[in-house]
Amino acid sequence: MEEPSPLRRFLLPAVFVFALFALLFFRNRDGGNRSGEWTFRGPTMGTAWTVKVADPDLDKESRDLIETTIQQTVALVDQRMSNWKDDSELSLLNRHDTSPYPVSGELLGILDRAIDIHRLTGGAFDITVGPLVNAYGFGPGDPPRVPSEDELKELLARTGLSKLTLNKSAGTATKRHADLYFDLSGIAKGFAVDRVADALEQLGQTKYMIEIGGEIRTRGRNGSGEIWRIGVEQPDPTLREAGRIIPLLDTAMATSGEYRNFYEVGGVRYSHTIDPRTGKPIDHHLASVSVLHKSCTSADAIATGLNVLGPDEGYALAVEHGIAALFILERSNGSFIEHATPAFETTLQRTREAELADPVVP
Ligand code: ADP
Ligand code: MG
Repeated sequence: MEEPSPLRRFLLPAVFVFALFALLFFRNRDGGNRSGEWTFRGPTMGTAWTVKVADPDLDKESRDLIETTIQQTVALVDQRMSNWKDDSELSLLNRHDTSPYPVSGELLGILDRAIDIHRLTGGAFDITVGPLVNAYGFGPGDPPRVPSEDELKELLARTGLSKLTLNKSAGTATKRHADLYFDLSGIAKGFAVDRVADALEQLGQTKYMIEIGGEIRTRGRNGSGEIWRIGVEQPDPTLREAGRIIPLLDTAMATSGEYRNFYEVGGVRYSHTIDPRTGKPIDHHLASVSVLHKSCTSADAIATGLNVLGPDEGYALAVEHGIAALFILERSNGSFIEHATPAFETTLQRTREAELADPVVP
């Protein structure tokens, strides 16, 4: 038998090992480029953002630009809409008296959308419940506690979105009660997702997935040319794994649920979502509700509103208005059942058809 040549004995294996290392190295550079996708992450609004961009050819400079653009976009939304920042635009408005207050286009836009969704949800979505959210210890400041009935009555008198007037041409917001205090936590994450989408589009990106604290928006296909798939978390505070997987094509999805943010006093569970009709935390067996909508701002606010209304009233309202919503209910034995509206099923069906027609779009 002939001896293998030195080339075959040393050089080829060396080339093979180098190629393997190079492949692994380049796949994981800067947050990873797995199957043609780049992942960017960062903290914001007391939670985290994740953005995936399906563009395998992005060079380091373009990736850096994408990353700083996202960081600046979410920081600007936070600086306008945070209750946790004393010097945010929202905090200044909250401290302002009853004279017209000039607000930025962004703040005016989100207040206007909040009024729309307030109407759509029959008043269930109401950003003026802030003082109640804070009284129960879910806002900035005081720790969790249960306020007295007298205190609740007094706080309820300060709420109601009809006490806010917007003048779009003058660019002002007017509080008709000096103590009116807005909490945008039920809509601001979705709004930030939409602003990040705008920013990515301006950079020429058309294939992406944006997620901030569970609110999501996608456009186009992922790095493998498939439709983006999003896991709706199992509504169980002790688990953190995806339950149902939902394909999202050029759509936003927001989820509102009580399985993560609540506390217990004397065996009673207190949710961070307030029913504006009673001033009290909601109390029903809805584990979570996810809403599909082209705007993540709207999806976020509608999901919060449907969560207030609960499994029966919320479901009926969603059906009546053709809202694509998936309700997950907790049974008394601790198991979960899903209840999707016809519009939700239709959206999913259309997505499946798009996938069948074009399983992989490069
Ligand atoms: P999550 O995604 O954390 O479940 P949501 O989008 O449902 O949150 O928003 C919940 C937050 O909205 C609460 O923490 C509170 O600050 C605020 N909020 C509570 N009740 C209401 C309400 N009825 N309408 C609008 N915002 C509310
Ligand atoms: Mg919300």
